[in-house]
Amino acid sequence: MKQLVILSGKGGTGKTSVVAALSRLAGRSVLADCDVDAADLHLVMSPEPGEPHEFSGRSQAVADPQRCTDCGLCVEHCRFSALSLDPLRVDGIACEGCGLCARICPEEALSMQPVVNGEWRVSQTSWGPLVHAALGIAEDNSGKLVTLVRAEARRVADEDGLDLILVDGSPGIGCPVIASLSGASMVLVVTEPTIAGRHDLGRVLGLVQHFHLPFAVCINKYDLNAEMAQEIEVGASEAGARFVARIRHDRAVTDAMVAGKSVIDRSREGAAADLIEMWTQLSDELQAVAMEAQGR
Ligand code: SF4
Ligand code: SF4
Repeated sequence: MKQLVILSGKGGTGKTSVVAALSRLAGRSVLADCDVDAADLHLVMSPEPGEPHEFSGRSQAVADPQRCTDCGLCVEHCRFSALSLDPLRVDGIACEGCGLCARICPEEALSMQPVVNGEWRVSQTSWGPLVHAALGIAEDNSGKLVTLVRAEARRVADEDGLDLILVDGSPGIGCPVIASLSGASMVLVVTEPTIAGRHDLGRVLGLVQHFHLPFAVCINKYDLNAEMAQEIEVGASEAGARFVARIRHDRAVTDAMVAGKSVIDRSREGAAADLIEMWTQLSDELQAVAMEAQGR
């Protein structure tokens, strides 16, 4: 099974529009939206929503005031000031779920219980199943949720006999991105011709190199600053990346997104032509990587 993970060093590079275009070009495959802090792939895939499943990425202290003798031990030791007495109460927003209070309470008046802080589902699109998830507001542990989405995507691919997973990764280089990379066959990094784009591309390439994964780079809206695009292309090639596309700035991409579609649904010219050319190169590369992995 081949897994292409699409990353960007920063948000706003147009990564989701690239993923949506690749899903059209790749034929039936599994899509995994691992940008769980701001999942938006479903907005351009118009899926038939699947059944929601609860996700619990952390625990929280729960009080039993009947057992409490007001000894004050837990209040004294909670570093997050999440406990108060008379009667015993837990501030659910302040509690970090460290579990200390439940361990030290002599009366067993505090216990730890899982908190539902997100949901995930497998929806159906015209281009294949979409595994997507959303964390609750101000919730963290997105790395765990990304790991779950990746595992479900593999399960669905096995079940449906599909041999390609397209993974829309989180922006940045943090825990959710690292979780997005596990099991990747190849990484495509989408960047833009700006100083921030160049800087964040360097950071994400450092991360991908750390995991010894084959990687390719494309520049979205390259013609907004062709000189900077040239610098990025040279830098990426020097870092060992396969440079696969300069994608034109094209109003048709935005118009398609606003209509809940990919530019590939509407055109074969402009940015769509660049994306088609990019997919030709990427699919060859993916095939080569898969054959190399089989030979090992
Ligand atoms: S340690 Fe237990 S008994 Fe003491 S105040 Fe806290 S909850 Fe109550
Ligand atoms: S679990 Fe940790 S943070 Fe939460 S109330 Fe207990 S000691 Fe405080």
